[in-house]
Amino acid sequence: MSERKKACVSPAEGECCDIIIVGAGPAGLAAGIYGARSGLKCFIVEKGAAGGQAMTSPWIENYPGFPRVEGMKLMEAMAAHAREYIEIREGVEVVGIEPAPQGFKLTTRGGTLLSKGIILATGAYHRKLLIPGEDEYFGKGVSYCSTCDGFFFRKKKVVVVGGGNTAVTDALYLHSIGCDVTLIHRREALRADLKSQEAAAEKGLKIILNSTLEHISGDGEKVKSIEFMNNAKGLREKMAVDGVFIAVGTVPSSALAKSLCVETGGGDFVKVDSSYRTNVPFVYAAGDVVGGILQVVAAVHGGAVAALSAFEDLANPYYNRTRVDKRSCPKPES
Ligand code: NAP
Repeated sequence: MSERKKACVSPAEGECCDIIIVGAGPAGLAAGIYGARSGLKCFIVEKGAAGGQAMTSPWIENYPGFPRVEGMKLMEAMAAHAREYIEIREGVEVVGIEPAPQGFKLTTRGGTLLSKGIILATGAYHRKLLIPGEDEYFGKGVSYCSTCDGFFFRKKKVVVVGGGNTAVTDALYLHSIGCDVTLIHRREALRADLKSQEAAAEKGLKIILNSTLEHISGDGEKVKSIEFMNNAKGLREKMAVDGVFIAVGTVPSSALAKSLCVETGGGDFVKVDSSYRTNVPFVYAAGDVVGGILQVVAAVHGGAVAALSAFEDLANPYYNRTRVDKRSCPKPES
């Protein structure tokens, strides 16, 4: 254990802590660094591995200080930095949160955790197209992660569906590793930022606009073809492909928030104020689960602010004595 980590206040197993941060993406990791450094007893629980969805981004080119960095490298660096201060319990899924006297009780598959406050950094998951063949061929040619699965499609024909930054970045990545890539987007123009569109043009990426993917077919074992409606021509077209990478946006993971009666808004994103406090006292949220621009830089900002708000509410420091409802720990059930 590093000297820095020894110096921070880490709760013992089973001990109630000030905050539990749910999720170890950029928002959760930043919250962990700021929370632990401020002196809160806290730890992070993460159902998978630390890093979040940004881990799956082939490249990130707009995080200040890193002109072009693989998503995995950036997130590994962020997680390593966070571990200097705070424990990250990976592979621990929180399946329920409920209010307890003076705090919250979190249920995981392994047991119960108690805390005075919660930071929800639960992120978002891939939106599905909900078309025939999508579920049937998931893992057999259908993928939502170009960096995870792209390797298996080198020298093969793939389509990427979507018009945002993820779709264009994925298409460029797949092109760079030797896939024969076509991007299919339902509108006349892409939504991705100008730099990504310029890179796509420079690489001569094949793009089919104004077309809606309708069907993914195969032989039961592997994807073989797709059908899409060419809306401009009013024609249904078929294309032989080996892989379909779907990048049509994200849906917030707001189920835990809603179970706590935290307010959500349009698109089910959790509502927070400028301090990243939700409507429920001592519940904070940050990162993709709160919506906005869904960028690593925004998630990091939100996580940091949420942790500092939690510190102000729980430690009630001399410079902020507006909130006086201090908490002791929730009592474990006998
Ligand atoms: P996004 O910006 O929401 O784009 C989703 C795309 O999928 C849109 O083009 C949308 O079409 C299309 N789409 C949605 N539902 C569809 C459906 N049912 N059928 C067909 N197409 C559908 O999502 P994203 O690209 O995942 O990006 C999410 C956020 O992350 C954005 O803020 C983005 O800037 C950010 N991001 C940043 C980077 C980076 O900076 N390195 C990389 C990736 C993502 P319409 O345009 O018609 O709505």
